[in-house]
Amino acid sequence: MQINFLGAARTVTGSFYIVESEKATFVVDCGMFQGSESIVERNKADYPINPESIDFFILTHAHIDHSGLIPRLCKNGFKGKIYCSSATKDLCSVMLPDSGHIQEWEAERINRNLKDTDQPAVEPLYTPRDADNALDQFTILELDEIHRPVEGIEMNFREAGHILGSCIVELWIEEGGRKTKVVFSGDLGRPKQPFVRDPAFIEEADYLILESTYGDRLHPEMPDRPAELKKIIDETLKAGGNLIIPSFAVERTQDLLYDLSILQSEKQLAPDIAVYIDSPLAIAATEIFKRNFEFYDRETNHLIREGHHPLQMPNMKYSHTKDESMAINKIKSGAIIISASGMCDAGRIQYHLLHNLWRPECTIMFVGYQAEGTLGRQIVSGEKTVELFGKEISVEARIEDNQAYSAHADQKDILNWLDHFKKKPKTLFIVHGEEDAQETLAHLIQKKLAIETFIPDWRDRVELKPI
Ligand SMILES: [Zn+2]
Ligand SMILES: [Zn+2]
Repeated sequence: MQINFLGAARTVTGSFYIVESEKATFVVDCGMFQGSESIVERNKADYPINPESIDFFILTHAHIDHSGLIPRLCKNGFKGKIYCSSATKDLCSVMLPDSGHIQEWEAERINRNLKDTDQPAVEPLYTPRDADNALDQFTILELDEIHRPVEGIEMNFREAGHILGSCIVELWIEEGGRKTKVVFSGDLGRPKQPFVRDPAFIEEADYLILESTYGDRLHPEMPDRPAELKKIIDETLKAGGNLIIPSFAVERTQDLLYDLSILQSEKQLAPDIAVYIDSPLAIAATEIFKRNFEFYDRETNHLIREGHHPLQMPNMKYSHTKDESMAINKIKSGAIIISASGMCDAGRIQYHLLHNLWRPECTIMFVGYQAEGTLGRQIVSGEKTVELFGKEISVEARIEDNQAYSAHADQKDILNWLDHFKKKPKTLFIVHGEEDAQETLAHLIQKKLAIETFIPDWRDRVELKPI
């Protein structure tokens, strides 16, 4: 069988793998590339295999860098089932049409600039309608149950502990009468995250495709997250500014609300402090979180049983409309504003940065990974000025890079997860990381676990021989 590495190869975004086996050709994830121009260009790449000839699709989780190009694949002829968990389907049902709108706006913006040139107009990658059509192909599977999408292939979705509904996928693929076990880690979470259960341990694999986002880094040792958050809130309020949190709409926003609700229930948060969720997608995702309680871990269920729902805070303000969002821009102090996109490369967060980034009394707190080439990365890495809406903005606000909210396993978590394999993989493919993270992790895995590692390049096609 062959595996095609069509994304997240020597970069974090764009997860996309096509496996060609004797029994079927299938896809695992089809995500959007995000970041620098040359990376984003890959969103328009040709397929090495006609999408019409793909039999089925496995989606590990809803994040756009894993799901964002599904509508394009379907538009180009893929007609099969897209298997995922129920929470993943629910989240994609708001995220993919939203992404379709962004694609349309993006194409309109480019076409406005092309108006007076002789260059042809561009088409959006896909539209909200394409996203709706693709959603018809989504098929829910239960976790921890063996499924047979075709004769000779079995799969089992396991908890990945990364975001609500995220899965590790175990696959048993028969070729020439022999079974080969291939495991896709998807994005691996960290133990003890709010809402989600801890990642499941996998006992064995012949081949493992492993994420490596934080392969060269360690998160702070078990931080008291609510206490740290309180410190930043208190210091910002004392300085007379706002706390701006660029946040991914899914999981990160709800994790923040979880901690804020803990602070509030312990009466550690001033009762008049206003928490704004200024992202229609984050609002929709929060509603989906409330509905999909069967994915919650024991601690979250316990809180709810005690009568304390972490997503229901009295002073939380949802801003649905543009006008509501613009009204927040007028607030000079005392507000916590959670807005998207998490990497600041689009969306309402850019307006909040425009109004607060140049004010020394404000704090911008990053809570997630900032990919190369994004505005968030520029700010986090200490640039003194950045460009926003064609203007030079001076970075005067306090910048916090709070790794405690990372939804990814760090180096130690990854090694610990690998250590739980009873039968080690023959070959481990390291994906979903930047070069330094991948090289460091590969070196450590070879040294500590004696497993052969391979870091694929974009569009590599590698044979997986039966073992
Ligand atoms: Zn993810
Ligand atoms: Zn990812």
